[in-house]
Order: sequence, then structure tokens, then C-alpha cells
Amino acid sequence: MAKGKGGKVVAKQGKASGLSEAELRRRLTEACKILAMEGQGDAVWGHVTVRRPGAGTFLMKPAEVGIEEVKPADHLEVDLDGKVVRGRLKRHSEVFIHAEVLRARPDVCAVVHTHPIYATVFGALGVPLRPITHEGCNFAPGDVPRFTETTDLIVTPDRGRAVARSLGDRNAVILVSHGIVTCAPTVEQAVVHALLLDIAARNQLLLPGGIPKHWTSDEEALVKRDRIYSWANHAQRWPYLLRKLKVWERRGTRRTR
Ligand SMILES: [Zn+2]
Repeated sequence: MAKGKGGKVVAKQGKASGLSEAELRRRLTEACKILAMEGQGDAVWGHVTVRRPGAGTFLMKPAEVGIEEVKPADHLEVDLDGKVVRGRLKRHSEVFIHAEVLRARPDVCAVVHTHPIYATVFGALGVPLRPITHEGCNFAPGDVPRFTETTDLIVTPDRGRAVARSLGDRNAVILVSHGIVTCAPTVEQAVVHALLLDIAARNQLLLPGGIPKHWTSDEEALVKRDRIYSWANHAQRWPYLLRKLKVWERRGTRRTR
């Protein structure tokens, strides 16, 4: 389970979460800023969404502001057809990634789409992502799925559905020569998946040709995934990232790429 400010523990951000809209907006904003802090900003591109409990809609970071710039009141409310039902700022054209993943996956309450350098470059190698370090175990067993239908932006419901099909029941998919999509029951966990995927890709890129000789077995990777990336450990990781964010923002060391 995830711990929010004041040690409040929340299992999910779906229908039964009981989170207020103000709380959802605050968490979504923090999630955006942590992605930027960890190097996944891309000027004003990249976006994060979270379901509104029981409303059939989701909150989405608006277009034309950086993920480190967004404020809680900025987030748009959008329906599963991609229509803005509340909010004055511009909507991202790639809304259909989020709408169609949220439609296809009732277990998912949050979606991240970013263009992180290492994971995107790794996707162009065409080799499987192996659990050569702990981070890779978060995505094992099996390779991270790849979306190859286009390298262009995902700006139609059809393309959004195709991304959702590539994702399947997994926690991440690499959009080859474009970026990544991650998802989870909470926005915090979806962000952690995005951070771990970029680190795992970076680590494998250190090897010649990105091809390892040794990696953790599927059996052990599952054990490590439960041990290292469990909800219990997440409840330690997220407050740490929030503390780091406070220091980062105080220093004014905003980094977008
Ligand atoms: Zn994109």
C-alpha cells in the first residue's frame, strides 16, 4: 500500500479509494514533478493521468505546461472518449493512450506516458530487456512489450486501443522510437514503474550491444519483484521521493532533459 502525506495509507485510487478530488489533484501534481526530477521531463510533453473515483472520468495534466510546472488546479477532467468535461487549459493530443488503457484495464487507475531517453533508445535496439540489475525484475518474467504500429504520436482512439492491446495485462510497454507507457492501481506506483523502466534500460545499455551474458532467472526475478518492489517497500520509496522533491524544488534545479 502507498503512504501519502501524514502517513495516510491508501490502497487504490479507483472507485473504492475514498480520496477527495483535492487529494487526487495533489498526488497527480507530485507524481508529475517527481518524473521531471528524475529526468523524464521533455519540455511541455509527457503526461500523467489518474481516475476520478466513480465518475467514469480521469484527471490529466494539461498541454503546454511542463510536468514540473503543473499545479493541482491545472489538471483537466476528461472522459473515456477523450472529451474535456472540466478545465480551461488545452488537452494533450495523446489523451487516447490514457483513455483506452483506463477503459481496457479496470485494475488500473493511473497511466504515465513519457519520452525518457534511456528506455526510448533501448527500445530501438530490438533486444529483450533482461533483469541484469534489481530494477529489471520489476518487469519480469518476459520482455517488456513493444508497440511498433507507428512511431508517431497516438492521436486517435484506434491507436490508443492498439497501445492498450500491446500493453496487455503488463505494467509497462515501450513505444518504439517514441517513449513509454506505464500503469498501476495508483499514480505513485505508475510513476515508480516509469522510473524503474528507464533505469533498467540505462543499465542494459551499458553493455556492448545491450546484450548481457548473465541475468536473473524468471523464478528468482519473481521473488525479487515481490521482495524489492512490494507495496511495503513502495511505502518507503515514495515518501523518500517526496523529500527529495522538496530539496530539488528548494534549490530551483529544474531539469527537463
Ligand atoms: Zn508521446
